[in-house]
Amino acid sequence: MKTHLKRQQDIAEKINPDVIISNWKDWKWQIKHSVRDIATFEKLLNIEFEPEEKKALDSTLEKFPLSITPYYLSLIEVEDINNDPIFMQAFPSPKELIVSEDDMHDPLSEDKDSPVPGITHRYPDRVLFHVSNVCAMYCRHCTRKRKVGDVDHIPDRVVVQQGLDYIAGNPYVRDVLLSGGDPFMLPDAYLDWILTELRSIPHVEVIRIGTRTPVVLPYRITDELVNMLSKHHPLWVNTHFNHPREITSSSKEALKKLADAGIPLGNQTVLLSGVNDCYRIMKRLFHKLVANRVRPYYLYQCDLSEGLTHFRTSVGKGIEIMENLIGHTSGFAVPRYVIDAPGGGGKIPILPSYMISRSTHKVILRNYEGVITSYKEPKEYRPVYCDRDCEECKLQLKLDDAPEYRSVGIAELLSDSEETQSLIPGNTIRVERRSID
Ligand SMILES: *Cc1c(COP(=O)(O)O)cnc(C)c1O
Repeated sequence: MKTHLKRQQDIAEKINPDVIISNWKDWKWQIKHSVRDIATFEKLLNIEFEPEEKKALDSTLEKFPLSITPYYLSLIEVEDINNDPIFMQAFPSPKELIVSEDDMHDPLSEDKDSPVPGITHRYPDRVLFHVSNVCAMYCRHCTRKRKVGDVDHIPDRVVVQQGLDYIAGNPYVRDVLLSGGDPFMLPDAYLDWILTELRSIPHVEVIRIGTRTPVVLPYRITDELVNMLSKHHPLWVNTHFNHPREITSSSKEALKKLADAGIPLGNQTVLLSGVNDCYRIMKRLFHKLVANRVRPYYLYQCDLSEGLTHFRTSVGKGIEIMENLIGHTSGFAVPRYVIDAPGGGGKIPILPSYMISRSTHKVILRNYEGVITSYKEPKEYRPVYCDRDCEECKLQLKLDDAPEYRSVGIAELLSDSEETQSLIPGNTIRVERRSID
């Protein structure tokens, strides 16, 4: 089997016989030579698909285009290509054209929860801000697959300005998550402009950027980019590693630059059938991430987007993975396993059950080994009832730096100060009958 370095050299020389290492490491060179068709893919990897296969692949590309950076391409191990986790994430499968009856066009209702183009406002205090529709590599498992390569959706300066105005006009938004597409595909100066505008809004406390460039185009993390980013602290970056094989010397270097600039790093992994649906692979991935100062943040159950059916696992597989992580390894190496609610309810955490029973004064718990234990609740606990009058409360919340939000949802039912007694779905037969009366 060829080494990664040898594979890089072979690919680079096929693209351009005079190539030098500084070309390869130039992110713009990588983008310019991204593989966008089957013939180039075959040529660069020295493989050939059957004519029948090629036909099926071409019709897949008409709906869901292909784009792979030479760097990410060089991670593919051709010897067992059909089981290769890099290949499966990057290369189209005719299975993408199978629309199952459970698939949804916009499963997370991102378009419905969008007050202005480019913004998804789902939670009380934070928004998702789509500032780019371009990615370095088109992930086959993209939840926004419907928009990939669609030029109509590229947000221009006017759209971004509308988003900025929305955030500026909404004092509850304290956390802005830049996404896309990939924000790091924007030119430094343009991203600098967006970050400067966001920083000038007093109620925006933190900015986060979601990017896959450290995985598929690590050379994008240049000193210039990092210097620019570090002007806008507190800034967090979330990456998207799905398999330990994606952690290479180049991606490590990119992560080091970001971490050295004081940027806290998180990672979101998508659970994908045939790619990483194995707790040993996951554990290896999360260990490698924390060794590179990246905190595993979310493990996503694969969404119901059209074209992803073949990537979906059972939820049981995800719980099995969590069971094999919690207690077995460092707490900070364990991400939160979530299902992003179809229809737009947001992320819902899923855990094995650790609390197995309780009485008025005892809680019965089990640990990762199967030890069953009881925790005695305090006899003398005096709860602090909250009427939201912090001035009169013995606990010392200083209101100056603690903006007040209304309680929402289940927290509203738990609240001591709200009158709400129940939350009733608007579409029950009982409720519909009431509106007829
Ligand atoms: C994931 C997401 C966020 C951020 O959620 P966190 O749990 O705070 O990371 C915000 N808005 C939308 C629409 C999201 O999907």
